[in-house]
Amino acid sequence: MTIQQQIEAIRLLKLLSAAHKQMIGRNAGSALLMETEEFLTECGHPPLDRVEHLRTELRQHCHRYYCLDAPNVSDDVFDQLFNELLGLEKRNPDLLTPDSPTQVVGCQLCKKEAA
Ligand SMILES: [Zn+2]
Repeated sequence: MTIQQQIEAIRLLKLLSAAHKQMIGRNAGSALLMETEEFLTECGHPPLDRVEHLRTELRQHCHRYYCLDAPNVSDDVFDQLFNELLGLEKRNPDLLTPDSPTQVVGCQLCKKEAA
């Protein structure tokens, strides 16, 4: 499976998962998504691209929040992204790095500590 196929598989499964959450409840939908990630990881394709994507996005949100004082997403949306990254790192410990937004408070883009 190429990285592109992997991303596509995750994207489709997220859609499926969202649909399932409505039909069968949030927990069952999350379980399905987790199973998919495990499957991809077992195949030797940890969801690295999603992790990198989330990190880039979260760093930008932190910059807007801490440095510009102009967040463009709600706390809920931020938490959702943050928790997704947290979950991926928890389930794929080899992907966890010290510079992950889950490990650093404040803006990494400006190296500014949280006030
Ligand atoms: Zn900044």
